[in-house]
Amino acid sequence: MASETEGVAVVRRDTDRSAIEPFDVIVVGGGPAGASAAFTAARAGLRVALVDKAAFPREKLCGGGLTDRCRGLFEAVYGEPWPADIVGASATFTFAMAGAPLSRMEGYSRLGMTMRRAFDAHMVDLAVAAGATPVLSDAAAAIDFSDRLVTLKSGRRLGYGHLIGADGVNSVVARTLFGRAFDPARIGFGLEVEVPKGDLPVWDEAIEIDFGAAIWGYGWVFPKAASLTIGVGGVHSLNPDMRERLGAYLAQKGLDPACYQVKGQFLPFGDPRPAPGRGRVLLAGDAAGFVDPITGEGIGYAIESGAAAARAVAEAITAGAPDTAFARYRRAATPIFRAIGQARGWRLLIFPARMKPLFARAFRRAGALRRGYLDIMAGTREYDDLWGLMAAELATVPGRLARRLGGRAARP
Ligand SMILES: Cc1cc2nc3c(=O)[nH]c(=O)nc-3n(C[C@H](O)[C@H](O)[C@H](O)COP(=O)(O)OP(=O)(O)OC[C@H]3O[C@@H](n4cnc5c(N)ncnc54)[C@H](O)[C@@H]3O)c2cc1C
Repeated sequence: MASETEGVAVVRRDTDRSAIEPFDVIVVGGGPAGASAAFTAARAGLRVALVDKAAFPREKLCGGGLTDRCRGLFEAVYGEPWPADIVGASATFTFAMAGAPLSRMEGYSRLGMTMRRAFDAHMVDLAVAAGATPVLSDAAAAIDFSDRLVTLKSGRRLGYGHLIGADGVNSVVARTLFGRAFDPARIGFGLEVEVPKGDLPVWDEAIEIDFGAAIWGYGWVFPKAASLTIGVGGVHSLNPDMRERLGAYLAQKGLDPACYQVKGQFLPFGDPRPAPGRGRVLLAGDAAGFVDPITGEGIGYAIESGAAAARAVAEAITAGAPDTAFARYRRAATPIFRAIGQARGWRLLIFPARMKPLFARAFRRAGALRRGYLDIMAGTREYDDLWGLMAAELATVPGRLARRLGGRAARP
């Protein structure tokens, strides 16, 4: 028997428990958040089911840009580097504002480049090798929090002690907990195409970031082994014309938008849930809203939060206090909330229309600001450190521009 809440079936308590497969932890979603949670929980000796509606390898719309910060988090969780054959890298960055070049930096920093199809399949393999039970090609269709039961689309029923919702931006777990997966007024949205390298023969392996390609967002070119991932993304409600924006961005590069298959997906662009879970249910990755509000980076936070959720569960069980898992997780996630909160402040200096010309000028002139941006991506600097950099830079900017920047860029 089932009732509907916001499109999600809620199973009532009159269930036959004999057919339920028991697990200590069910992880819903096998993306970076779910795979790292399943790996960490299995390593801690827990019985883990890793549930995904897809079979792996599967596609996931994403730029596939992996920061050095993300690399460090991956190595901290797995104790080994990611395979070189699935992650390339580029150390050349070009920055632009609506097609006008701002600057180019070579050799200062690098960004890993992957195809999510291969990257995510590798992470799922690691979780399964660690002992997680894969439950693939079967979606979580209904969740009963009081009976701690997940019913799959196939009708299979799994029981849990703790549930980790890592099922992405449209999370069924978050919807069942809170009534909706995300706030439509604040959600981000991205569109991408995969362009064969031969279509842009003059491209020189540079990563491009164009701050003017979308409102409260940006455009990107990420070079991969055989293709270029080209996209635009930003706050959804401010960019109702995102498809036209992508078309214009492609046309700027001499590409005909009609030649490419355009794919789109929401991303929680800097809109974390203040409570990423409740009771014995923890949300990780996009399901918790953990995406950087300036760069759109979500893979690193997904790996970090998935592992943190699993550690919180394992610690709560070991302490004989299973109901403390959420409080432990919320504490462990404090640095993520802090970083996203700081970035939300910084984006007031970058994204508002009246700030863009000033930002473009400062970014063109100020090497420290450019390096700061890349350091954030690399994870060698926190957003907090940028205030000092900015102040030092302002001291070198003469006259009117300094006064304008100083006046407008009051710390939010
Ligand atoms: C256009 C675009 C570009 C991006 N570019 C970058 C980038 O370059 N670098 C970066 O770091 N981040 C980027 N991001 C963000 C990044 O893709 C996400 O933050 C990241 O994938 C989050 O990982 P996750 O594991 O939380 O969710 P996901 O990767 O979305 O994984 C969720 C998993 O849950 C499964 N699932 C969903 N519903 C169910 C269900 N009911 N039952 C079972 N399984 C289910 C899905 O099949 C999926 O495998 C981009 C996002 C977009 C939209």
